[in-house]
Amino acid sequence: MKIRFWGVRGSIPTPGPDTVRYGGNTTCIEVRLDNDKVIIIGAGSGIRGLGNHLVVNDMKKKGPLDLDLFVSHTHWDHIMGFPFFTPIFIPGNKVRVHGPVNIGEEGLEKIFALQMSYNYFPLRADELAADISYELLREGTFRLADGVTITTKILNHPIIDLGYRIEADGKVFVTAYDTEPFRNLFDGEPGDDDYDEEAQREGAKAAEMNNRRVRDFMRGADLVVHDAQYINREYHSSKLGWGHTPVEYVLWSTLKAGVKRVALFHHDPTRTDEELEKIERLARDRVARLNHHRIEVFAAREGMVVEL
Ligand SMILES: [Zn+2]
Ligand SMILES: [Zn+2]
Repeated sequence: MKIRFWGVRGSIPTPGPDTVRYGGNTTCIEVRLDNDKVIIIGAGSGIRGLGNHLVVNDMKKKGPLDLDLFVSHTHWDHIMGFPFFTPIFIPGNKVRVHGPVNIGEEGLEKIFALQMSYNYFPLRADELAADISYELLREGTFRLADGVTITTKILNHPIIDLGYRIEADGKVFVTAYDTEPFRNLFDGEPGDDDYDEEAQREGAKAAEMNNRRVRDFMRGADLVVHDAQYINREYHSSKLGWGHTPVEYVLWSTLKAGVKRVALFHHDPTRTDEELEKIERLARDRVARLNHHRIEVFAAREGMVVEL
């Protein structure tokens, strides 16, 4: 299984001289199986480059494409590249878009079509020439063709957001981004007006159970691509509840889950290359101090290929 990063940035594309090394496109990951089947995770602006690559290489070699695209959720940074994904304009190609049901039960298809209405884009969704279908996912495990098993996990974000665990070719690859640790929703101090000891205890239990489930979902993976938008200091001072994880927590939970490699991902748009290098060093130093087994940590870079 080969993983290639086409976009690693969160929130908004950030091209420019300060981001050339890690890249400025929003999230898109290509998962290429040993039989050359391509699974795509994320339709951020990075998917534009992947689309062109697929047309020039894969289509030339093997004819029409048959693709599965999984989106974590429909926040704009994760779907904005779709109208620029060339394979959708070519007859004969098949694209199955998989993503979570959302709170309003508004279908994926409608959300994708909205950004392809004339107010935003010169073409409409019903003008696309490829065969495009939409599949709504809930939490669970299912099989794709070619012996691929996919497990989905609801993560902690302001809207329903799915992590994906892909098992194929004897390897396990997991994505867990646009998420933060589950917290005790009834946290408080004795003496607070609305303090309720029982609720506090139950809240703590629920948070721990949910965090344990996320660790079980990542358990033993060969590679986890994890949200690491913040560091502890930023997270605890002003970013609680924004739906993103501090690096220190990523290391703690992936170590506990027995993960082999971790890619820090969904980089904050304000981060320069120098800052990301610093964070990568910080993470490696920390792992060296915490580590009982071996775990490899790196900050995901656009263009990087990881073989599992
Ligand atoms: Zn995002
Ligand atoms: Zn989001």
